[in-house]
Amino acid sequence: MTDRLTRHAELAERYLPDELLARFRTRAAVYDRENRFFDEDFAELVERGYPLLFVPERHGGPGLSLDEVSHLQQRLASAAPATALAINMHLMCTGVAKAMTDRGDHALDAVFAEAMAGEIFAFGISEPSNDWVMQDSRTVATPNEDGGYTLKGVKIFTSLSPVWTRLITHGRDDSDPEHPTLVYGFLTRDAPGIAVSDQWDVMGMRASQSRATILDDVRLDPQRIVRRIPVGRVPDLLTFAITSNFQLLIGSVYAGVARRALMLGAEGLRRRRSAKAGSSLAEVPESRVRLADAYAEFLAVPAQLEAYCRDFDERVDHGSDWPLLLVSARLNASTAARRTAETALLCTGGAGFDDGSEASRLFRDATAGLFHPPSADAARPMYAAALLDD
Ligand SMILES: Cc1cc2nc3c(=O)[nH]c(=O)nc-3n(C[C@H](O)[C@H](O)[C@H](O)COP(=O)(O)OP(=O)(O)OC[C@H]3O[C@@H](n4cnc5c(N)ncnc54)[C@H](O)[C@@H]3O)c2cc1C
Repeated sequence: MTDRLTRHAELAERYLPDELLARFRTRAAVYDRENRFFDEDFAELVERGYPLLFVPERHGGPGLSLDEVSHLQQRLASAAPATALAINMHLMCTGVAKAMTDRGDHALDAVFAEAMAGEIFAFGISEPSNDWVMQDSRTVATPNEDGGYTLKGVKIFTSLSPVWTRLITHGRDDSDPEHPTLVYGFLTRDAPGIAVSDQWDVMGMRASQSRATILDDVRLDPQRIVRRIPVGRVPDLLTFAITSNFQLLIGSVYAGVARRALMLGAEGLRRRRSAKAGSSLAEVPESRVRLADAYAEFLAVPAQLEAYCRDFDERVDHGSDWPLLLVSARLNASTAARRTAETALLCTGGAGFDDGSEASRLFRDATAGLFHPPSADAARPMYAAALLDD
């Protein structure tokens, strides 16, 4: 049996070889400076079959596990964080479909044929001032006679905005006031009433082009509805699969950012000289300790991601502990990305502060990690309740 490390290395070589990553890293600076989508990276990822990673073998794909995709995403993010964050949204949709079919629920199986046909999936869940996220929606879903819905609302931060062709989204149906319901389904890009915001000039992850999507009376066809779930905290396989894929794959992106920041920090210390010490900074104890501490702290992050990805793949039942584990893995990864990015800046010195430097860009990209749901503030009550409440 091929051992896991060999398998990860083979997949890295097949999907993200070193020369490809070098091109991505060079372009990442350009996309960031010009505030544009990663068109060339996207074309190369499609050519290599990267959007098909999760498609099961019986549907024509390689059927990779969440653990395998997490490793690839960490590698991709180490070269091009915004490219990784954005393609994550497509991977997540296909990963959710795979997780569900693996567990005997085939409601999303159509995603596989569409992905094989070249459709690109995006994730249109986040809304302004909806900190319930998936447990509620401010998008109004009005039932139609054909069994479908008309959606009206705004989805913010839709990554992949220039290229997506399918959008998983949700809205709230209040037609029975006693039983408000959330409707989940897929919109097609050509549906009348969809508009993309022309505003996008953010601090980091700029190439993701995560522009707001305005839904102005957009019809959700009955055959594209995948779930109706009561509003509130109601356990469901769809939302569990979304949470798992979302938290662990977003965490993987920030783990990749953190690993790269450590490499940049090491390069910086080797390059810079101290006149006082008469050596490179790589030999100065304070500098070594700073980098050493950041590295030791970081190593818990990929370990946590791997443990939970493998448990998810092996269908280990953590029951009500799952949200605690998943959210902690993503929060720790994004904290590590910000800390290591700051370490990288301290190690690279004033040169790293240059707006065009990779260390400076990673610092900005890492900051985006503050905004994925749930934030640390939003998550704290869940951890406190797990220990303190009956
Ligand atoms: C880089 C990045 C990529 C992301 N990708 C995705 C994704 O693909 N899919 C997804 O569902 N979530 C995505 N998210 C969203 C994220 O996970 C959070 O839900 C979001 O950042 C929460 O922000 P907030 O509640 O603080 O936003 P708010 O402070 O409420 O708003 C944030 C943004 O939305 C804009 N906005 C607010 N109201 C309107 C309006 N009425 N019309 C138009 N624009 C409005 C604001 O101008 C502002 O730029 C992404 C976040 C980041 C940082």
